[in-house]
Amino acid sequence: MVRKLIAGNWKMNGLKADLETIRQVSAHVNSGETAPETLLCVPATLLSAAAETARGTALAVGGQTCSKLEKGAFTGDISAPMLAEAGATYVIVGHSERRTGHGETDAEVAGQAAAALKSGLTPIICVGETLAEREAGATLRIIESQLRGSLEGLETAGSFVIAYEPLWAIGTGKVATTGQIAEVHGFIRAFLAGRYGAPGNAVRILYGGSLNPSNAPEILPVPNVDGGLIGGASLKAADFLSIYETARALQV
Ligand code: PEP
Repeated sequence: MVRKLIAGNWKMNGLKADLETIRQVSAHVNSGETAPETLLCVPATLLSAAAETARGTALAVGGQTCSKLEKGAFTGDISAPMLAEAGATYVIVGHSERRTGHGETDAEVAGQAAAALKSGLTPIICVGETLAEREAGATLRIIESQLRGSLEGLETAGSFVIAYEPLWAIGTGKVATTGQIAEVHGFIRAFLAGRYGAPGNAVRILYGGSLNPSNAPEILPVPNVDGGLIGGASLKAADFLSIYETARALQV
């Protein structure tokens, strides 16, 4: 069985006082094959302190985006080596808020994933359709095209994670049905197995979109759901840990 990954995305939330959440989460989570992996992707300003707070525990910390380049005249951008030096071991790339708000294309995302890997970070590559695309019956075509573009140049599986995040479910309180999730995750699995062979079956595919303690028991057991990428509900230790416990019960 693939070890589940319960990952939080704090987005542009978090000041030093919120390190208390890191402390509470890291004090609770377990290491070992029977426990899900846990990760909190915090704002870059908190990374070093969060890594320090979580040091020696099973909680990993990660970034929320990175440049495809290592350094240079790119005001405001952050590179993968910078994230790694600050203590990140993962980085989210291609989140829909970056794709839509910052014009990041599949090619850009592929470059970011490659840069992350070069710095020893595991990229979590996000894909997902808009409501209009779903209603037009184009969901699987969009997902396939995003996968093809965002995985361009990534020749081996095993070093990255995919997150399926339907845009209409992110931060809206609307959750995809288990049938919709099963269909898309099954499609992504078949794509990965077709492209990478057997190692494609071990790539973790996370669901993201208004995942919370109440719906996690229904969503996390869906076939090919290997964990979650959680926004709002990752900001409170109790909520995040409740989702973690649901995943833990499924892991054994
Ligand atoms: C996300 O930002 O990746 C996300 C899934 O957010 P939320 O859980 O708040 O919908």
